[in-house]
Amino acid sequence: MQTGTKATLRYYCKHLKNYPLLTIFVYVGAFVGVVAGLIVPFFLAALIDGMAARASLPQLYTYVALIMLFYGINTFGWRVSTYAVVVLQPKVMASMMKECYEAVEEKSTAFFKDNFIGSLVKKISRMPDSFERFMDEFTFQLFTAAIRITMSIIVLSLIHPVLGLAMATWSILFVVINVIFSNYKIKHYDLPEVESETKVTAQLADSITNNPNVKLFATQQHERTRMHKVTKKWSRKSMKSWIFSTHMESVQALLMLLMDLFILLFSIQLWDQGLITVGVVALLQTYMFELFFTLWDFGRSLRNSYRALADAKEMMDIFAETPKVRDIKKAQKLKVTRGEVQFDSVSFKYEDFKDENQDELEEKAVITNLNLKIKAGERVALVGPSGGGKSTLSKLLLRFYDLKTGEIRVDGQDISKITQNSLREQISLVPQDPILFHRTILENIRYGDLSSSDEAVIKAAKMANCHDFIEKMPLGYETTVGERGVKLSGGERQRVAIARAILKNARILILDEATSSLDNQSEKLIQQALSTLMKNRTVIIIAHRLSTITNMDRILVLEHGEITESGSHAELLSKENGHYRALWEAQLS
Ligand code: ADP
Repeated sequence: MQTGTKATLRYYCKHLKNYPLLTIFVYVGAFVGVVAGLIVPFFLAALIDGMAARASLPQLYTYVALIMLFYGINTFGWRVSTYAVVVLQPKVMASMMKECYEAVEEKSTAFFKDNFIGSLVKKISRMPDSFERFMDEFTFQLFTAAIRITMSIIVLSLIHPVLGLAMATWSILFVVINVIFSNYKIKHYDLPEVESETKVTAQLADSITNNPNVKLFATQQHERTRMHKVTKKWSRKSMKSWIFSTHMESVQALLMLLMDLFILLFSIQLWDQGLITVGVVALLQTYMFELFFTLWDFGRSLRNSYRALADAKEMMDIFAETPKVRDIKKAQKLKVTRGEVQFDSVSFKYEDFKDENQDELEEKAVITNLNLKIKAGERVALVGPSGGGKSTLSKLLLRFYDLKTGEIRVDGQDISKITQNSLREQISLVPQDPILFHRTILENIRYGDLSSSDEAVIKAAKMANCHDFIEKMPLGYETTVGERGVKLSGGERQRVAIARAILKNARILILDEATSSLDNQSEKLIQQALSTLMKNRTVIIIAHRLSTITNMDRILVLEHGEITESGSHAELLSKENGHYRALWEAQLS
């Protein structure tokens, strides 16, 4: 079996175990259905022989009654199985979907940077879909075929041992050839096809997300060519895979033809020797047709099952990948009493940083041996050139990434030893470009504290200067904001994010250029709201416009991941040849 296939099967079984009764109904129902169906030809044979021998009508009617009875049991068995399947599958699929979502959700920030959202969505949705297809194939084809083959071997052996032996040998040959072919196909055709389909999805998602850029740069043709390239590869791989299936079916057809020829010739001989009746010859043919009918689909089902398993593999890989940032065992909750933050000899590199001009993966130092103590309630501004590591510092404090060396402590507690949730509950972040859910504005603001009342949400919105623009929207607070919040302007989104932070009421506040996209009028109001919000909190502001941070307790200049200057606005301005002073003068002019 292909690597990962067993793991996927175990994963399916794990979910089925949650519904033991339904699973039993599915397979017992199918078993009863198949066996009853296989008994019918016996009475058909008896009926034919009875008619040939001019048996009495009551005797013939008894055969008819028995035929009907077993047809009835056959139908009943299948109904039970089918009903159980239709109840079972949606339940399992829903719990798989939930589990897949949770597995992706708990991944660290780096994972989302490395994966396209579109392909992640596809990988998640493929898992329940693959289960459904696999279970259908297994239950209605493979399981049924296995019972039919076994029954056929038993029946043929009873008629004549040579028939039984021939059937058994043939069946083993048939199944082995199919398994070998299917394994070969999954490895050489199906997995590459799934991979290229994922690439198509990723390309689609990337191009569609970047549609504004495509328009702006008039690069429709360029994007179409890229799209065409990946779809062409995908189509070529699909075609190869299907052609291979068709070849396999030809081999299968030949095997069946040879087997039927043998059974026919041999049964004529047995009949000629008076060992079997015409009815039994008819029985044999009915069995053969039924069996071939099932087996014709056996190969296809086996391949479809393998394909379903291949589809699930990408999600299984995600399951297997442990999140880079994890809570340690028995991690304690962070207890914040004051809100002191300390960076102690912190060094950090982003993993897998790919230099554009090099093929090799390179790790790039972003923070080097940084020491910083922010007192409780202190307001600190981080300034410096772009790429200096300001945002990275805030990400490290939020523990989106783990440190290479050093320690970050909040109120004396090492953040790598406490739960991530308890840490993030104590920190509010207003990011540079806030992303909103495609939900109502009310829900988006309430995200800061899910338990807050509508009144509290509106109060926070007023403090963040959102209320007026929200009121002007068609449905007010009930207006939905579009995917990622696209229906709001940058400034509006930022104000919504500020309202969220106000509601969250955390002890530590990180403002990542929080006021950068506001107009003068709103900025003034926001500044007031922020200064109320900042009271009694530890604040870290990542700022580009120095005018907004002149009254901070301390300003730190961060260059190449190192603090090169530190002091109040006045202190830093007084430094001859100081970087801050140069920045200030540049901004003034
Ligand atoms: P600043 O906020 O001061 O502009 P950042 O902290 O965003 O700087 O970035 C510091 C450096 O880290 C930059 O060189 C940037 O290219 C790099 N960087 C930022 N995020 C990532 C990431 N997810 N993976 C790899 N490198 C990153």
